[in-house]
Amino acid sequence: MNLQDREEPIELKYFRFLEGRIDLSPEEKRQYANVQKGFEGELKFDHWIEQNLSPDYLLIKGLLLEHRGELFQIDTLLIFSGQIYLFNVKNHVGDYYIDGENWHFMSGAEIKSPLLQLQRSDFLLRQLLRKLGTNTTVKPSLVFIHPEFILYNAPPKLPVLFSGQLHRFKKKLNSMPSKIERKHEILAERLVSLHLDRSPHTRWPDYDYQQLKKGVTCVKCAAFMSDKERKWICTGCGHEEDNETAILRSAKEYQFLFPDRKMTTNVIREWCGINGSKKKIRRVLTKHFRHLSQGKGSYYV
Ligand SMILES: [Zn+2]
Repeated sequence: MNLQDREEPIELKYFRFLEGRIDLSPEEKRQYANVQKGFEGELKFDHWIEQNLSPDYLLIKGLLLEHRGELFQIDTLLIFSGQIYLFNVKNHVGDYYIDGENWHFMSGAEIKSPLLQLQRSDFLLRQLLRKLGTNTTVKPSLVFIHPEFILYNAPPKLPVLFSGQLHRFKKKLNSMPSKIERKHEILAERLVSLHLDRSPHTRWPDYDYQQLKKGVTCVKCAAFMSDKERKWICTGCGHEEDNETAILRSAKEYQFLFPDRKMTTNVIREWCGINGSKKKIRRVLTKHFRHLSQGKGSYYV
């Protein structure tokens, strides 16, 4: 049973909504690509679990927790009655090697060791579980989900699952007896209730309203779409969207990017780059948001 849907990382949302509206620096582009790749890897592993595992289990996708003032992240938590698996999922591609404690690209450049992060999460999770009164053992693993990832010099004891090992891992898990009881559900619900929304370490580009290019951007390729009265067509890839979907989506982007600014029909007309009548905007906003009047003006929340 799945207890929490995987949320798109906040920074990925910022990048997605800003891409096309501002010029991202090479560093920001790299960060965007990394966050996106990481998220895709996590979704792939979720899919693998849901397609392959048959015993009774509880699945929690994406937890940001705090224990004694320290924040830690868990990509995937899989709870069986006799064992808890903590997975951090990596979507690296290509050749890497390990030298002692250090991890490197084949070119020699060092990368941040994913193992250290895993060990830290494991340590803090075990402490938190003890505080919550559970003594079920935790097995931490790094999952390298991409089939084209190679790690040279990896010692056999490394808590790592390579994509080529997932099939055997599935057999192992599926042969394990597990019976989820209410106490396991209570623990899982407790962990979900402790989940924090956003980490203070989250980074995204600076922006302000004036500086952003206005218009409706394409969900597929981030190019601007052109307004064809009843529908919108992407100038980059030709993707089509009906009026309501495109305007609603853009209004939600606006709300996300500018939580402190009021959303009025005029603002959304400018935001979407619509020259014609305000009618179609008002129709969408009235249908999907709450309309509040303030003095002579009004806005939507
Ligand atoms: Zn497009």
